[in-house]
Amino acid sequence: MDFDAMFAAQLEALKEEGNYRIFAELERECGEFPRARSHDDGAPDKVTVWCSNDYLGMGQNAVVRQAMKDAVDACGTGAGGTRNISGTARHHVALEGELAELHGKEAALLFTSGYVSNWAALSTLGSRLPDAVILSDALNHASMIEGMRHARCQKVIWKHNDPEDLDRKLAALPANAPKIVAFESVYSMDGDICPMEEIIEVAEKHGAMTYLDEVHAVGLYGPRGGGISEKRGLAHRIDLIEGTLGKAFGCVGGYISGSAALCDFIRSFASGFIFTTALPPAVAAAAQASIAHLKVSDTERRQQRRQVARLRAELDKRGIPHLDNASHIIPVMIKDPVKCRQLADILMRDYGIYVQPINYPTVPKGTERLRFTPGPLHTDADINHLVEALSVLWKQCAIAHAVA
Ligand SMILES: *Cc1c(COP(=O)(O)O)cnc(C)c1O
Repeated sequence: MDFDAMFAAQLEALKEEGNYRIFAELERECGEFPRARSHDDGAPDKVTVWCSNDYLGMGQNAVVRQAMKDAVDACGTGAGGTRNISGTARHHVALEGELAELHGKEAALLFTSGYVSNWAALSTLGSRLPDAVILSDALNHASMIEGMRHARCQKVIWKHNDPEDLDRKLAALPANAPKIVAFESVYSMDGDICPMEEIIEVAEKHGAMTYLDEVHAVGLYGPRGGGISEKRGLAHRIDLIEGTLGKAFGCVGGYISGSAALCDFIRSFASGFIFTTALPPAVAAAAQASIAHLKVSDTERRQQRRQVARLRAELDKRGIPHLDNASHIIPVMIKDPVKCRQLADILMRDYGIYVQPINYPTVPKGTERLRFTPGPLHTDADINHLVEALSVLWKQCAIAHAVA
């Protein structure tokens, strides 16, 4: 059997569709973010990153870096085991306390990534609760979809951000089945925000548990960075809040927070929690420093909002269409995978602007886009340079046709 030929055939098909993924090899430069050194041919040495999920630049924050260095010097690099077998450090326990406090919950539980936390928590809930049904928003993230798939329980998909559809679907289920409503606060590809209160009301009416992914909101929204649920004063009505330490907090890792019984249940039954080495203590220490900083500092959030508003306004002035939403994510729709890739290549090569083309399967075919995430460290000059470049390219007719 020629396995390599089989792999190559599928890769060839992906390339023909324009959906083959090419990574930009970067070297982030501490103190210079969002500037990075590029290691790719055909790109300038220095580029400006416009698609980072390190939304607030916390990955280069002095306090966060120092916390990580101190913990490495104190405890070494790795955790040395799973949480159960010699891998639980003081730093993990302290971070779980910090997270529980952030969301006003009794407890929190750490995972090696946000992906793993969704996968592990949803698969455990769905498989361990007898006759459970998970009701999933149609645009939920791949990590939730994989968790539900692994749960092998009944799944019901409700229309994106549509509480009335959720209500109808909940009403059609047996009254005594445990129901879990899984949704996100900020959807990362369109940047839209869920009608959280309406969803909670529907879930409460049917006695369903609420499972909220706040990955693109923690650190960014709410007076202390507790996410949209904090901003809207609704965290106490959500049963499980899931988040990441890898995006606005600038580190790596994921977590859930909720009641003590819920977290103990997942801790005790989730294979994705039990059978893997714990996060390095230094990562936990850095994440805790980042969370603690953003609980009391609003400077980063305010400056980010300013730059987001500024980029939107500048795009509007030049007539460059972008999806309107209430978040920090600015998608510019290209609607063609090949053009999306070409545009990104030109931005990188000629302007030193790095924005990754977002193609299928991350978004549906025909909705390919460039997705900009302005942060507090993008200067006004960066924004002007970006809008200038887009506007030159926009006038070239190939691209104009793509958006027509
Ligand atoms: C990125 C992402 C995750 C996964 O978080 P990681 O910490 O990167 O694994 C989960 N949910 C959503 C909506 C995401 O965008």
